[in-house]
Amino acid sequence: MNVLVINCGSSSLKYQLIDSDSEQVLAKGLCERIGLDGRLVYQKSGLDKEVTEAPMPTHKEAIQLVLDALTNKESGAIASLDEVDAVGHRIVHGGEQFTASALITEEMIKTVEECNELAPLHNPANLIGIRVCTELMPGVPQVGVFDTAFHQTMPAKAYLYGLPIDYYKNYKVRRYGFHGTSHSFVSKRAVEFLGLDKDNSKVIVCHLGNGSSISAVVNGKCVDTTMGLTPLEGLVMGTRSGNIDPAIVEYVAKKENLDIAGIMNVLNKKSGLQGLSGVSSDMRDLEAAADGGNENARNAVDVLCYQIAKFVGGYVAAMNGVDAIAFTAGIGENDLRVRKTVCSYLGYLGIAIDDEANARRGEDVVISTADSKVKVAVIPTNEELAICRDTVAIVSGK
Ligand code: ADP
Repeated sequence: MNVLVINCGSSSLKYQLIDSDSEQVLAKGLCERIGLDGRLVYQKSGLDKEVTEAPMPTHKEAIQLVLDALTNKESGAIASLDEVDAVGHRIVHGGEQFTASALITEEMIKTVEECNELAPLHNPANLIGIRVCTELMPGVPQVGVFDTAFHQTMPAKAYLYGLPIDYYKNYKVRRYGFHGTSHSFVSKRAVEFLGLDKDNSKVIVCHLGNGSSISAVVNGKCVDTTMGLTPLEGLVMGTRSGNIDPAIVEYVAKKENLDIAGIMNVLNKKSGLQGLSGVSSDMRDLEAAADGGNENARNAVDVLCYQIAKFVGGYVAAMNGVDAIAFTAGIGENDLRVRKTVCSYLGYLGIAIDDEANARRGEDVVISTADSKVKVAVIPTNEELAICRDTVAIVSGK
């Protein structure tokens, strides 16, 4: 089955066409600057990237251009759209309504719309992608895969905030968690790869990218995660602050003469590694600056590693133990120094790292030593493949 995976943002769209039998990517790319000037990147497997400047006033033109590229006579991956058997869409927020991926129907779309308030920048864009695909590929089954769904197994003690309970009852204020597709994929893969018993396993997944979150997974079910009502909570991230004292909001708003929107902009876009270092939100730049003696960059890296170690320690307590820790995403997969530093905080758990294994890249790898009491692994995430698998399972009624 050929599955078109679509991740629609407000001004961009990422796509992959995947053959679900071989799990090979047939073609992939992205549309950028939708609503501005428009640029299409298309890459058929085994060929070079093609970049085309093309007007895309709305997502409709963008998706049409993707479909044209996929079926282009010279470089297309398929001969016609008849060869697209299903479409899988990433949807950011499924609220409490969606505990798993779901077939897209009019009724399902209405339920997603009820969650729009919780992700006002993302959900409407995801829904536009769904509407356009319905129009351009009528009759092709579509599935929605939610960032929040995997975390819906959290118990109330993990998802409730210490706020008046009516805010939860009336406004749905609670921890939802994000990156669920990645946490689900990586925790499952960790259990399989490390030979753990899936019905008797405690795994911590550290998804460390531009946005970062950690989850605690017992017997395949999420019991806690660091992101909250929104993806702002938890770890310090590229430009997001992560956890802060909530009273800082009022204090800084007065000092800087900012309104709520102004403060939210600072917390989302000007804080985190970027804000701390004043250098960059990108880990590679930060480490280069820290190596060159930049103290703010050094502190930013130290803050991140320290926070990761504290959350991991908290989750070991929450689960009363841990069998495996898995690192994933841009920093988790590539940054051996972050992994080493984090694990050096965890010596009390009997964790020891094999430096040679820790230096390997691009594959599932165990980086702990044979006698380490907890297994530590790097598991590259693949959210598109996870979306493809869920889409196939739902479309074929498995
Ligand atoms: P996103 O959340 O946007 O999907 P990614 O998972 O791609 O982000 O992660 C981006 C982060 O990964 C950036 O901070 C980047 O610097 C970091 N990263 C990528 N490659 C390396 C590397 N070789 N060493 C250290 N950090 C890296």
